[in-house]
Amino acid sequence: MILDGKKVRDFLAENIKKELNKIGQKPKLVILQIGNDDRSSAYVKQKKIFGEKLGFEVEYVQFDKKVLEKELISRINKYNEDKNTNGIIIQLPLPKNLDTLKIIESVSPEKDVDGLNSKNLRLVLEGRSGGFIPATTKGIFSLLDFYKINIEGKKVVVIGRSLLVGRPTALMFLNRNATVTVCHTKTNNLKQEILKADIVVSAVGHPKLIKKSFVRRGQIIIDVGITKVGDILVGDVDYKAVNKLVRAITPVPGGIGPMTVISLFENLLLAYRRQNS
Ligand code: NAD
Repeated sequence: MILDGKKVRDFLAENIKKELNKIGQKPKLVILQIGNDDRSSAYVKQKKIFGEKLGFEVEYVQFDKKVLEKELISRINKYNEDKNTNGIIIQLPLPKNLDTLKIIESVSPEKDVDGLNSKNLRLVLEGRSGGFIPATTKGIFSLLDFYKINIEGKKVVVIGRSLLVGRPTALMFLNRNATVTVCHTKTNNLKQEILKADIVVSAVGHPKLIKKSFVRRGQIIIDVGITKVGDILVGDVDYKAVNKLVRAITPVPGGIGPMTVISLFENLLLAYRRQNS
């Protein structure tokens, strides 16, 4: 079975549109991009177009890659204080001269719709609600829930331990009562670990890392990885070889990518509601 991220995104998008119609306002997202990396620019534009189609206001602010940290933080503070701004995201990765954690931390937790600052990550760590779940992680769970895939008691392997994807995803599986293993570059026998899992989430960025011999019947495979090979985007899984063997799999593109974007806007709507309740 294909876990169709576009189909689920479109379903969730209808819910958001209905909610926005009821509210009669346009909650506002500000996206800050530093530098002009082509891939980041493409992602930002996609988010802006998609968000506006849903009925949000999306402001795209671009800074020179040499912007001073102080100047950037002062701009973020202005948006933190602006009552008309409901959510703020910093497009990652940042140029090396900037301290990513410090910049993320300067976004007000109430407007941190990417769910990356310490207050929001701590709530995920503690298994408590009230914060924002990082968009990719949230998207993975919305997709699994849509297809009614049971999580409780399942053996889950998450490959990748980044703060952006791997760690929050592993913690959320723990919060949903799965038994979780996190694999990374120093994992001794990745294949054996993957074979033990009921659900595999790969967030690496290494094409064909997961081959046919790494998987077995009955498994659910979530491929978060995105790598540009020539003109096409590919995931971490050798999709053609694995697809027919496993129980369910996400395609790349069309799997977790669209789920990440819709989850960001679900978080924005949540932010608006909290700020106006
Ligand atoms: P990252 O580079 O910060 O982290 C990659 C992780 O993979 C690291 O923790 C590393 O330990 C692990 N890793 C690297 N090589 C490995 C190997 N051979 N075996 C096992 N583990 C290995 O990247 P990230 O920001 O976490 O993103 C991961 C991937 O997901 C990237 O391809 C990124 O483009 C993609 N991504 C997709 C979405 C989406 O919407 N679909 C969102 C965010 C990130």
